[in-house]
Amino acid sequence: MSRSDSAASSLGPPDDSSRIPPLDADSLLRLLDQLAEGLCIVDPGGRIIHWSSGAESITGYTAEQLTGRSCHHSPLCDTACGAGDLSACPILRALNAGTPSVARLFRHHQTGRTLVLEVQILPLLDSHGRGQGAVAFFRDTSATAELEMACGHLRALAETDPLTGLANRRHLDAAIQGQLDQLDHCPGYRFSVILADLDHFKQINDTWGHGIGDQVLQSFARALKAQCRPGDTVGRFGGEEFLIILPGVRLADALEIAERMRAITPLTAPPGLLALRPSASFGVAEARPTDTPGHLLRRVDAALYRAKRQGRQRVEPQSGEQSPPAA
Ligand code: GH3
Ligand code: MG
Ligand code: MG
Repeated sequence: MSRSDSAASSLGPPDDSSRIPPLDADSLLRLLDQLAEGLCIVDPGGRIIHWSSGAESITGYTAEQLTGRSCHHSPLCDTACGAGDLSACPILRALNAGTPSVARLFRHHQTGRTLVLEVQILPLLDSHGRGQGAVAFFRDTSATAELEMACGHLRALAETDPLTGLANRRHLDAAIQGQLDQLDHCPGYRFSVILADLDHFKQINDTWGHGIGDQVLQSFARALKAQCRPGDTVGRFGGEEFLIILPGVRLADALEIAERMRAITPLTAPPGLLALRPSASFGVAEARPTDTPGHLLRRVDAALYRAKRQGRQRVEPQSGEQSPPAA
């Protein structure tokens, strides 16, 4: 006797108690009805033949209301499904294509409340692969979706300067680190930064009032943003200082951008206060592969300091570079 024969004989005949008992369809449905998930079964014509208790409590629609009706009456389907629009009906799509699908659907509870449903739809195929209907399992992820939205909103708040709506210092620090990482990993990649500081801003506050000072900050912020491309980051570095991060931009081009910003600054006075004619000074630096955020910021700050010392309302590059011609 081989080892496997002797092992089989020592195990004896299969024990019936360890087998899953054969279940008729009704017993199986009663079992599935106990799941918190919703279950909807449709026949080959898309008529609902089962709507589980889980489906009732998720949607507020009862089996009595839906059984026997076309799937477009179910809260899983869009109203356009009734007009035969397959793109609006994941169930009809599964029936037609005979392939499983997963979808995230925004639908409504019977009371009108929005539901975010994660739905998995499986076609029911017979042994010859012919479609016999479809089964949709679904669960309510509205609470998670709400939480995701709240987190996104909080993240935006945590990274935005409330006065100007620009990126705040926290966002800027992360953006600089991100750019330095890219510089590290992508040979030939370049980026530059501009540090802008409104000139004699304390005097603006003292002369015109803090409220007008705030308006100057807001219109200067808008003007800086208007000079940038969508991929650039413009942020309030603190007080009346702004940092602009220019991905993919070399020093010479960054100097030109800063020069344009300098030239339009006097026009950024709040409405009706053109006499105010604010001005700003700018430092410009291009990142080097060996830079830390601290190195880069010190270099651009030193350039800005030089612009202040040399009379303000001017643009200065990082040391060792030539100043741009004023426009
Ligand atoms: P400089 O040309 O050398 O930059 O001089 P400055 O007067 O612009 O610089 P200073 O650092 O002396 O003053 C900055 C002023 O900015 C002082 C501060 O009260 C003001 N400030 C900072 N944040 C705000 C703000 O949110 N709103 C207003 N209105 N003023 C602010
Ligand atoms: Mg200033
Ligand atoms: Mg300052």
